[in-house]
Amino acid sequence: MSNATAKSLQESLKLKLDYDQLTNCMRCGFCLPACPTFKETGVEAESPRGRISLMKAAVDGIMEPNVRFEEQMGHCLGCRACEPACPADVKYGQLIEQARDAIEDHTTQHRTWVKGVRKIVFGQLFPHQNRMKLLGKGLRFYQKSGAQTLARKTGVVGLFSKQMSAMERILPEAAGKGVVDQLGTRVPAIGEKVGTVGMFRGCLMDVLFTETNRKTVQLLAKAGFDVVIPEAQNCCGALHAHSGEMDQAKQLARHNIRAFQEAGVDYIVSNAGGCGAILVEYDHLLHDDAQWQEQAKWFASRVKDISTILLEKGRPLPFTEGPGVRITYQDSCHLRNVMKAGESPRKLLKQMPGATFVEMKDAGSCCGSAGIYNLTQPDMANTILDHKMDHAKATEAHYIVTSNPGCLLQMKLGIDKHAPGSPMQAVHIVDFLYERV
Ligand code: SF4
Ligand code: SF4
Repeated sequence: MSNATAKSLQESLKLKLDYDQLTNCMRCGFCLPACPTFKETGVEAESPRGRISLMKAAVDGIMEPNVRFEEQMGHCLGCRACEPACPADVKYGQLIEQARDAIEDHTTQHRTWVKGVRKIVFGQLFPHQNRMKLLGKGLRFYQKSGAQTLARKTGVVGLFSKQMSAMERILPEAAGKGVVDQLGTRVPAIGEKVGTVGMFRGCLMDVLFTETNRKTVQLLAKAGFDVVIPEAQNCCGALHAHSGEMDQAKQLARHNIRAFQEAGVDYIVSNAGGCGAILVEYDHLLHDDAQWQEQAKWFASRVKDISTILLEKGRPLPFTEGPGVRITYQDSCHLRNVMKAGESPRKLLKQMPGATFVEMKDAGSCCGSAGIYNLTQPDMANTILDHKMDHAKATEAHYIVTSNPGCLLQMKLGIDKHAPGSPMQAVHIVDFLYERV
């Protein structure tokens, strides 16, 4: 990194980082044992306290941010397990997003083609649901036409990174039709109505896990909700915010707020921890936008995870006795650490007649998926996954239940790698519940 770039990055960090949050950290280190990258490496710079110290040193002019600084910020999973452990309530998640936002404007690390791909994916693909649908159709054609078999046989898939080829193996079948194409934009409550909810369908979720979206709507209807799925909603902006593309994340947030306000809903339901966590923080995301503050608060205060709303607001679902199975639960970090809803899925699963719930050691620790972390930092992601699978296998569970598409794919990857041929399966909580009502 040239001196001029380092200087301008330093200026940008000064502008973007919340200095009060940097000084709130009293260096106690309570967060260290919660941090997966610190647990794996034992290196201070790979811990929340270490990263905060680096940010503060850069802002105070004690050190110039260099390539190593960028790398340490990039190694963080953004799982936010450090936040509940912090007695000073340091908003670490906000700090890392601010640091990445500054880095993104100045980095010399991304090669030109990576910058190009990011521009297309973040700017031209994710924000447009119709283009996401086209992507789903393309993927479906690849999976169904024989091209996938050919690509695997000829080894073309392996020409990309090893990690990409492993991910390709476990991708579910893409859907040609999204949840609105299948169910329309309104589904009435079954039986007595208890309220009206808006369903947040997600972008990738609606392409790769449309069945889970459809079952989410049907579970909500069975629990007594009229369900509205506003057609105008778009991507939540989580990937953008976590990767330093803050302006785009804010644009997406404004668009979603408008779509759900116009729908006139009591609650907004998410079935993906990663999406739900940014939705519930739209008020923070738009805190410096006077025009949108009130609407953002309105939106954020209504966001609920599917497990929470079923448990707390809906009519109890009539679960039937399923086959006698052992189940365990892998937390979605964002559901647990940001939405503070780690208990709701467990309570629901423990109600399931015929199923035995077994808690997994370190279930609350990140699985290494973390958005696109398992693609951008494959070595650390795989080390974390290896340890996770040791704990998962020790439960002898038939099902690893999750609440987030990224975690679900990571668990599938883990089973494929560590327990091939075993009866263990990874499943989204909605799919698991739906089978038993
Ligand atoms: S967000 Fe997760 S990985 Fe990042 S510093 Fe906090 S605990 Fe560690
Ligand atoms: S627990 Fe909080 S105050 Fe203590 S070192 Fe970590 S971030 Fe700083």
